[in-house]
Amino acid sequence: MAEAPRMPDETGVPEIEPYLHPVLKKNYGNWKWHDRPRPGVLHHVAHSGDEVWTVRAGTQRQMDVYTIRKLMDIADDFAEGYVRFTIRSNIEFMVSEESKVQPLIDKLLEEGFPVGGTGNSISMISHTQGWLHCDIPATDASGAVKALMDELHEEFVREEMPNRVRLTISCCQINCGGQGDIAINIQHTKPPKINHDMVGNVCERPSVVARCPVAAIRPAVVNGKPTLEVDERKCICCGACFPPCPPMQINDPEHSKFAIWVGG
Ligand code: SF4
Ligand code: SF4
Repeated sequence: MAEAPRMPDETGVPEIEPYLHPVLKKNYGNWKWHDRPRPGVLHHVAHSGDEVWTVRAGTQRQMDVYTIRKLMDIADDFAEGYVRFTIRSNIEFMVSEESKVQPLIDKLLEEGFPVGGTGNSISMISHTQGWLHCDIPATDASGAVKALMDELHEEFVREEMPNRVRLTISCCQINCGGQGDIAINIQHTKPPKINHDMVGNVCERPSVVARCPVAAIRPAVVNGKPTLEVDERKCICCGACFPPCPPMQINDPEHSKFAIWVGG
């Protein structure tokens, strides 16, 4: 008899309940109060009288399998086997006894993971990863994140800022990563220079024309060859035409810059 066909697995966000620390599961929605006994630690008390301490550590976000295994070993050995990730790629460990907090922090610091980010601090920087999956990036955002967080990570650890500050870095001015108070992006400041000799051989001109969000590109003929031209009064220097047509040369060592947008 033929085997029954394999049914597709449902995808999407899984139910969180099976992954919750037992104290969080038991007291879900029934918390009475919480405080922050020290930077990087939150202490929650439930109406039932149960208590849980959450220790937050920063990660480098794009982690290799060895780092993930190291964090999971820390969770098993020092934190009752439960973790969760925050929206800004911090990792949080939950423990149900106060006596477990300091050994957990000591282990995290020993392994190079900064503890902080729960109070008035500079957050771990959320960033895009267009270098891995997108065709527009002007640069690799994660390199800029590393350089900046090397400078700022004391503000994550000490939590002595006047208020919380959320930083983001994006690899182009479309700013996919921009849910923050201060966004840092790569911004081109000049329209593309077109290498007309190459356009006819390399580019599918209608798709390049369609790619421009402000209809600044149109077909043209230069020196008898089919090519493209850009209306520089319309061009917003977004760089979207470069991926389908590399002769639209917009990356420039002088005119492609980091821009800092303040104000969310
Ligand atoms: S910020 Fe730009 S380059 Fe980076 S992922 Fe978003 S659209 Fe792509
Ligand atoms: S840089 Fe952006 S706005 Fe300018 S021509 Fe290319 S796609 Fe259009």
